[in-house]
Amino acid sequence: MAFKLVLACPRHPKYDPRKGLDAIVGGCPNCFALVDLALDVERVKRKMEQRMFTSLKDLERHEQKQAEKVLETARRVVRKVREGEELELDEQRLLNSI
Ligand SMILES: [Zn+2]
Repeated sequence: MAFKLVLACPRHPKYDPRKGLDAIVGGCPNCFALVDLALDVERVKRKMEQRMFTSLKDLERHEQKQAEKVLETARRVVRKVREGEELELDEQRLLNSI
């Protein structure tokens, strides 16, 4: 679900907090509060993005580790088959899945 929250000063409904403090007319406290709020919203957004980015990186690392594990087992299987050694259960399973 997505929703949009529109905040505006009742006295200056056209004031956009992205214009910054210099664009505030007559030191209006509502408009000042809007700028603060907009900055908070930006901070929260950035934090959420960072968190998403971090978990994506974690996932990538996890997948890479899994792939390395499979590759390592595969190498061991190849060597063991070549040398006529007996395979462990997980190695047999890997061989069967190929
Ligand atoms: Zn205002």
